[in-house]
Amino acid sequence: MSGSDDKPVEDAGRSGIRILSASLAAAMTTDATARDESLQDEKALFLTLIHNIPACFVRKDRDGRIVFANEKAASLLGVTSADMIGKTVADFYPEEFAQAARDEDEMVMQTAEVIEDVFDSEIEGETRYFASRKGPVRNSLGEVIGIQTIYWDITEQRLAEQALHREREELRVAKIAADEANRAKSDFLANMSHEIRTPMNAIIGMTDLLLETDLNQTQREYLRMVQDSGDALMTLINDVLDFSKIESGKFELDHLPFDLHETLGDTLKGLGFRAHNKGLELALHVDSKIPTHLIGDSSRIRQIIVNLIGNAIKFTESGEVLLEIDCPQSSETQATLHFQVIDTGIGIATENIDKIFKEFEQADASTTRRFGGTGLGLAICKRLVELMHGQIWAESVLGVGSKFQFTVTLDIDQSRPSSSANLAPVNIHGVRVLVVDDNATNRRILKDMLTNWGMAPTTTSCAESALQALVDANDEDDAFQVIISDVNMPNIDGVSLVETIKERELINPSRIIMLTSGARPQDAHRLENLGIQAHLIKPAKQSEIYNAVIGSLNKGRQSQVHLDKDLKTTGEFKTVLRGLRILLAEDNIVNQKLAIGVLEKLGHKVIVATNGIAALDKLAKDDFDLVLMDVQMPEMDGIAATRELRKREVSTDQRIPVIAMTAHAMKGDRENCLAAGMDEYLSKPIRAKDLEDKLNQFFPMSFVESRISHPNENDPSSDNFTEPQICWKKALKNTAGDEELLAELLVTFQDDVPQLFQKLVLAIDENDRRKVCALAHSIKGSLGFLETTDAQAYFQNLEDCAEETDRDILQQKFGDCRVRLNKVLGEIAAKLK
Ligand code: ADP
Repeated sequence: MSGSDDKPVEDAGRSGIRILSASLAAAMTTDATARDESLQDEKALFLTLIHNIPACFVRKDRDGRIVFANEKAASLLGVTSADMIGKTVADFYPEEFAQAARDEDEMVMQTAEVIEDVFDSEIEGETRYFASRKGPVRNSLGEVIGIQTIYWDITEQRLAEQALHREREELRVAKIAADEANRAKSDFLANMSHEIRTPMNAIIGMTDLLLETDLNQTQREYLRMVQDSGDALMTLINDVLDFSKIESGKFELDHLPFDLHETLGDTLKGLGFRAHNKGLELALHVDSKIPTHLIGDSSRIRQIIVNLIGNAIKFTESGEVLLEIDCPQSSETQATLHFQVIDTGIGIATENIDKIFKEFEQADASTTRRFGGTGLGLAICKRLVELMHGQIWAESVLGVGSKFQFTVTLDIDQSRPSSSANLAPVNIHGVRVLVVDDNATNRRILKDMLTNWGMAPTTTSCAESALQALVDANDEDDAFQVIISDVNMPNIDGVSLVETIKERELINPSRIIMLTSGARPQDAHRLENLGIQAHLIKPAKQSEIYNAVIGSLNKGRQSQVHLDKDLKTTGEFKTVLRGLRILLAEDNIVNQKLAIGVLEKLGHKVIVATNGIAALDKLAKDDFDLVLMDVQMPEMDGIAATRELRKREVSTDQRIPVIAMTAHAMKGDRENCLAAGMDEYLSKPIRAKDLEDKLNQFFPMSFVESRISHPNENDPSSDNFTEPQICWKKALKNTAGDEELLAELLVTFQDDVPQLFQKLVLAIDENDRRKVCALAHSIKGSLGFLETTDAQAYFQNLEDCAEETDRDILQQKFGDCRVRLNKVLGEIAAKLK
């Protein structure tokens, strides 16, 4: 090692590297030789270390001249350590780099602080990155006498970081693209589903209508298949629509007040029919502690329940399905509801339980073959429940049954009283009730419910023991005041029980309430003549049972009326609501026909308006009992038309009910409709039963009776022309035997042709020959399908000679036309009556 090499070592010693100075201090206490040897050792150690570390080390004096460089630093520049001594950075690097280094040196000397930095350098044509630490060198007095820099190659690390960064960036971009694509896909699905719904509405609605007509067995069977497939397809489309809306984050929940008992009661009625058809019991048990009036999305809760109970019915061959609801947690403002759907069906293997909540997953492949379904139902339920801040899960034992549970948290409607104690002024406390039902779950539920009302129920499981209980109670002078009995029981059924009770005069039949199944209308017929208080379709709502109990105790007229109405809404008893004048505001011709078909079948008269303006016009000129208002219409939509209607009504003291119809229940539709002054809401396709239910809701019995005794009729006069004009047989042929279509064409005719004729009258008066010609042509055209004896020919003749005949003859020909047209209209009115 050369002499000049020694200097940095001394410098290093003086610079205060602690370990070194500590050992130097120790060395001073020994003798000089030993001290020299020790120093030599230290120096050798230091140099070995400094030259072998994998980092570069350079020390400069205050002027920037290099006083020491280790071998690593020298080898980077392709020189030796000795070559570097006395040189500056500028001797090895471009001026720009050197200047930056000098600036940093200056800074370190001024502040005496360490600077950490990263720099790059071109080495053998390649960019290398270095991390550096630059700090001051001090003498023993602590004065800054130079700079030392340690720097090491971080190129690999840098490149790895850069690669990682690039990858992340690529991933980020890819994710954005994927999200975008997903959203586009969901949008597309949502749009498609919506588009598919429209023709599906027509298929389902028309099939419903067609099924109501006279058909032979095979035709009926085929049509039922169309109906089933249509319903299945509609469910699937709705599922896909829901799913895609949830997926694309477009799904919003309603936040509207609803009555839990009523909502669920109505929902279960529909499902009850399905369950009873399979011979299953369907029961509902709602904990009395649950607040009645809640705020949330009742239709989505209903959707979940329909799905779970629908599955339970589907996968259960015998036994029962129970919906049980309790309230594990509640505050002043919120309640968490816990729903359980328990069945005694085929069950699900443990390993499949989690799978079934995933989209398109079913418990096993054979399920699809045996039961159909898409595996979307539960996936949607899961997402809906999560949107409502709840959870859904299932437990099941193969061959024993399944229990699906979910929770949702809802706001409590504080503006409404929570109890259902707004009912009749009858004291039911302590009233003895005999419950007869072979199903233990039903007995438990009824007992609970009656006990909650303060009544004293006794339960029996068959007619025999019920009769015994009645006899015993009478003997003990503690007679039962009310009997609630199931109809469908083994051995002696409910109807026979009532007959025996009547025969033996054990209790007045007006104190008996029977629970029947919608799937067995024959039971209802048998019960009708027995003079009992009520027969309620199972599962009966609490309010129905309550009303029936009150009715049996006080025979109050009001509760009787209410009961009738409720029974009617189940659709199992023939409604007598007929003869309403209904304005149908609807632009779509197929939907028009559908609604007209349904309404006329129910015995109502329908007048059509094709947009909001026409509807308002007709409402201003004529009297109607009800408006069915499509929401989307050209020129003026249903919302605007209803708003305007309500404005006009302010001065008239009248309020005509308006029912909105929309293609799909989109979020906010309902609120918009109600806010515009509509009273109810129907989603398409219009189904006879829904419509009938809604109408019954608006027109109670009293109205119906008055309407029936004063029918609204407007028969045109027949002008004493006796020969029949229309050949009905041929007319029916023209509609391919379709009575419904014929009827609806007749209504259109009744609406349109008199108007054309009025215009014709004007044209004749004004002697406007071209108009006469055109109008005669139109009326002739309209008469076409009726195959009239000669009406059509007369209008043809009027058209032919309109241009040249003199006025008197034209008037005469016109008179002949008028007589025949009146005859036609008379015949139509008679036919439609
Ligand atoms: P889908 O019924 O349309 O196939 P779901 O998502 O509603 O779709 O149900 C997924 C699967 O879960 C069903 O196919 C069935 O295998 C199983 N499953 C659901 N509910 C029940 C149940 N109550 N009992 C037995 N299996 C059930």
